[in-house]
Amino acid sequence: MINSSTVKAKAREYGADITGIGCISAYEGTKLEHDPRFICPTAKCVIGLGIRIPEGMIRVLEAGNQLYSLTSLYTKSTGEELVIMLLLKMARLLENEGYEACIQRTSPNIKAKDDYGMNPEVSSVTRLGQALSVDPGKKPAPEVLLDFAQSAVICGLGSISYRGEVLTPQYGPFQRLAYIITNAPLEADPVFDSDLCDKCGKCADACPGKAIIRDEKTTDIAGRTYTHGTFDSWQCSVYYRGAHRSNPYMNDEFLKGDPDREAVLNGEKRFDEKSAKEMYPKMKFLPPTQFGYVPCMCRRACDIACYNHLKEKGLIRKGGAV
Ligand code: SF4
Ligand code: SF4
Repeated sequence: MINSSTVKAKAREYGADITGIGCISAYEGTKLEHDPRFICPTAKCVIGLGIRIPEGMIRVLEAGNQLYSLTSLYTKSTGEELVIMLLLKMARLLENEGYEACIQRTSPNIKAKDDYGMNPEVSSVTRLGQALSVDPGKKPAPEVLLDFAQSAVICGLGSISYRGEVLTPQYGPFQRLAYIITNAPLEADPVFDSDLCDKCGKCADACPGKAIIRDEKTTDIAGRTYTHGTFDSWQCSVYYRGAHRSNPYMNDEFLKGDPDREAVLNGEKRFDEKSAKEMYPKMKFLPPTQFGYVPCMCRRACDIACYNHLKEKGLIRKGGAV
């Protein structure tokens, strides 16, 4: 019978840099629309998998010499192609042993019923606000979307960043995650029991659009409470696309004659859904990938600031132990 050690060893062989296994009972109390038991009713555990971004790419981004490589090699190739290959190989491994493997990658352009934000990596999102449950209170409204940050904590992979994303002890904010909900009876890892984010605020200070706000909130996951800032994803979506002075592709034609130009470039204008969407067509500094991923013109300044901070504090453990 397959066990946790074999699953982790195979995951590494197939391309994962980090793995962890979470017990399905840790999801008790999760909103129906995010509860993995409504994806795989016989689930016993969730397998968490992460693929890192190479340190060299982080340094190139930091230097500002290449911006498009993040979009093409990380967002697209790692987050899509490598993750899918890893998931499909892992599914074959588990199903050859007679178990179900419900593989989960991010759904970049779908937002759950309770999510009114934007994903800056894509050109548009569809919100499932109109979706209705066929049995309210007992069954979720479709689509059921696994909460990737919650699952990272439950699988023992990492904790919540100030922006509400995931930090791991191996790669800080720089990995793409995927999950497998399975009825294989695998031994679970402990829930991640510490908080890598010390609320230093360096990520918020680094964002050229002030999209990470020091208005702190808490999120409860599997008996642990995480404190984090407020992330304005509409604001992020504008500055991710490059509406700021630190965009090396900025030019005099951008917002020429617009009385708000200076405020926008300085990150002082606030954007909501409507005004953000009005800005997108004005920002075509580099082409999207053929799959529509938007080029990252902010160089993920928030994540680089965090990565450097965690490294300085000795909180990033290189080597990617599975
Ligand atoms: S830079 Fe990192 S450690 Fe500091 S507040 Fe932001 S997420 Fe937390
Ligand atoms: S630095 Fe970039 S990715 Fe980070 S919050 Fe700001 S705009 Fe978004």
